Amino acid sequence: MTTLLTVENLSKVFHLGGSLFREGRELVALNDINLTVEKGETLAIVGESGCGKTTLGRCIIKAQPVSSGHVFYHRDEGGHVDLTTLGKREIEPYRRDIRMIFQDPMSSLNPNMRVFDIVAEPLRVHRLLRGKELEARVYDTLGKVGISPDAAGRYPHAFSGGQRQRIGIARALVLNPKLVIADEAVSALDVSIQAQVLNLLDDLKEEFGLTYIFISHDLGVVNYIADRVVVMYLGHVVENAPTDLLFERPRHPYTEMLLEALPIADPSRRKGRNKELKGEIPYLGNRPKGCPFHTRCKYAQDICRAEKPALRPINGTAQLAACHFAETLDLKGAYEAPIKA
Ligand code: SF4
Repeated sequence: MTTLLTVENLSKVFHLGGSLFREGRELVALNDINLTVEKGETLAIVGESGCGKTTLGRCIIKAQPVSSGHVFYHRDEGGHVDLTTLGKREIEPYRRDIRMIFQDPMSSLNPNMRVFDIVAEPLRVHRLLRGKELEARVYDTLGKVGISPDAAGRYPHAFSGGQRQRIGIARALVLNPKLVIADEAVSALDVSIQAQVLNLLDDLKEEFGLTYIFISHDLGVVNYIADRVVVMYLGHVVENAPTDLLFERPRHPYTEMLLEALPIADPSRRKGRNKELKGEIPYLGNRPKGCPFHTRCKYAQDICRAEKPALRPINGTAQLAACHFAETLDLKGAYEAPIKA
């Protein structure tokens, strides 16, 4: 496989202003993140809210400046460029290659614009096509996401949630990107519509030759669509593994906890499942020493409170985990794949 994106030692710290009576605080949203995205794969980034997954997506497209580290984009023609160092103008071509799909299509689509103009806008902003060529590209892209060109004159409120998300997808794809970052792209949709949109994303991946970073809190959805999963906790990557391995045999206790919380429809197979996530995520401004997960981990030992475990390959496999006991703990996997086709 060919690497498309490399995230290296990426950190993001938010500084909260202090006052006369109170010191300012630092919130470490991303802590030394390392990962690669291979061409043609769907890489999922999962974790509870506040784990840093959306911030990571935003830092990758430079919608948010990073505090330190690099995002290397590997070009087709060879070589790579560090997106974090580029100025406003220099980043423009890469913003065509890397597009985002957002969670709530209603708030991300301008209610005062017709669908045609919403989808045409990126072409106009990047001055790529005009006139008949632009028109043809917009209608063609709408057709590919299942929106009839006849509907292009309507406003977003005239569409259902699923259709609005299709319009959001068309807007992302109209520039023929290489990498699409989908941030909770199906979370706001009904389950039946979720499946339709996931299938559409899968089909479009083939058709457009896309690579996805799929940000989600829902492991069921991730199992359906992802080739590889990165699990984040409190701004750290705690596990990074091919989807099958992660679901069969997780190597980090936090992944096991997320899998235990997966809803299982069949009551006879529910034993030990459908558990609530235990404990609360610590405040980002008051991070635990040692392993970031030790305050919620049922396997924690003294060393966990003192030393932060490094993210490392487990038993020479493609599965990476950041746990002192990753090789020896016998963690439970998901014994029922939730919605895999
Ligand atoms: Fe739990 Fe310790 Fe592993 Fe952290 S290092 S996940 S606290 S067992």
